[in-house]
Amino acid sequence: MAEDRTRGIGQLIRDGERSFSFEFFPPKDEAGEEQLWRAIRALEPYRPTFVSVTYGAGGSTRDTTVRVTGRIAHETTLTPMGHLTCVGHTREELRGILASYDAAGVHNVLALRGDPAGGPGTPWTATEGGLTYADELVALAREVGGFSVGVAAFPEGHREATSLEHDVQVLLNKQRAGAEFAITEMFFRASDYFGLVERGRAAGVEIPILPGIMPITNLNQIKRMAELSGREVPTEVVARVAAHEDDPVALRAEGIAVAAELCEALLAGGAPGLHFYTLNRSKATLEIFAALQITV
Ligand code: FAD
Repeated sequence: MAEDRTRGIGQLIRDGERSFSFEFFPPKDEAGEEQLWRAIRALEPYRPTFVSVTYGAGGSTRDTTVRVTGRIAHETTLTPMGHLTCVGHTREELRGILASYDAAGVHNVLALRGDPAGGPGTPWTATEGGLTYADELVALAREVGGFSVGVAAFPEGHREATSLEHDVQVLLNKQRAGAEFAITEMFFRASDYFGLVERGRAAGVEIPILPGIMPITNLNQIKRMAELSGREVPTEVVARVAAHEDDPVALRAEGIAVAAELCEALLAGGAPGLHFYTLNRSKATLEIFAALQITV
């Protein structure tokens, strides 16, 4: 499905039967880099439509994102996508990073605003000479040219959004600015995803919206992540997984089962694919693949 790297991700999703993709984060040290590459090599035979690498809130991992995506472009058969945020960058710096992606052979970008410098939930202030919202970064990437651009979408609404309707208008603005596809924040109820798709279609959003899947292998870790997005893990999911609190192996198996059931419901309901938050490990994603009977 994914072999033709001359087509952007937007086109690949439109052309492909189903899109599978994996998200990684930039490693902080050598051990982390080795773990990341073990995961990349373990997942590569599954021929995902693309793999993506997140962009840090600041500091040296930002260069690592460009370097790792470039290495994926040159040393693997995979199609890489680099994330990019407006946080702490002027417009000119953003142009420079887009040029670095291009020079590294990375032609797909996930254009994000990023979280406020004080952390999720604190007030957002744009950098002087920089951009305020993600749609401006989409437009900049399109202006620079040569990129297929994706954006973020939020099944339960972005934590700063004033209403679900406004949230969908924001997604529409990003499409109008040139976004070709969207990927959602993690969520646990298929109905939240289909609600977003329905609101989007009614408002004129036509781009494919890939659901973002986070398998639960550690309940506290997932609860913390959900809190960062201003959400709670639904009580019915917590109850199912927490029933195995004293048995980490059984807890993990239940977490994988919950994610696999969600994936099945999403695909059966017409989702164009699945985007897995891997946390730089392949095991949980491959366990879900096994449950879905997806093979190499
Ligand atoms: P926007 O689309 O700009 O929206 C941000 C807020 O502003 C929303 O509340 C929106 O309703 C509001 N808004 C937008 N436009 C307007 C307007 N014209 N007028 C008024 N209000 C407006 N963060 C990272 O730091 N690095 C990453 O690599 C990263 N990867 C991500 C990947 C995915 C798939 C997702 C879902 C999120 C990711 N994030 C990442 C988190 C993301 O940066 C945050 O959720 C951020 O707070 C919002 O980014 P956005 O691109 O959706 O912003």
